Amino acid sequence: MATERTLSILKPDATRRNLTGKINTLLEGAGLRIVAQKRIQLSRAQAEGFYAVHRERPFFNDLVTFMISGPVVVQVLEGENAVQKNRDVMGATNPANAAEGTIRKTFAESIEANSAHGSDSLENAAIEIAYFFSGIEIVG
Ligand code: ADP
Ligand code: MG
Repeated sequence: MATERTLSILKPDATRRNLTGKINTLLEGAGLRIVAQKRIQLSRAQAEGFYAVHRERPFFNDLVTFMISGPVVVQVLEGENAVQKNRDVMGATNPANAAEGTIRKTFAESIEANSAHGSDSLENAAIEIAYFFSGIEIVG
């Protein structure tokens, strides 16, 4: 397995409830290193751009409205098999289906307000990291 980088977002439901530290404890505990991080307020256009692949999904407008409802923490995680590892620690999209101990099982409010985002492939990770960070902002 190779060292990878993936994009993680702590969503507005997590910042609102002051859970960023608790969530990052789970990520760091799994061996993922936070090598870039910033707290930002997304504009509607920025959120739409990030989730462009979901444009045709019925939940797209609600998702964008949720993602701009408060600040998010965008971060780059680095580690062995980081893309899949982050997904494993997050758990299933719907917290009702997420495994015990995962971020979403522990913290998510709903299938939409599910506390964390993680890139779903190495290819998308590179695209998503570049959406938020320049090379000099990532310190491994
Ligand atoms: P994941 O974040 O697990 O990769 P998707 O890429 O399928 O899931 O969806 C992106 C985000 O859209 C989800 O994390 C969640 O916030 C929201 N979402 C997904 N499916 C639904 C749904 N059926 N209803 C409302 N929101 C949804
Ligand atoms: Mg996804």
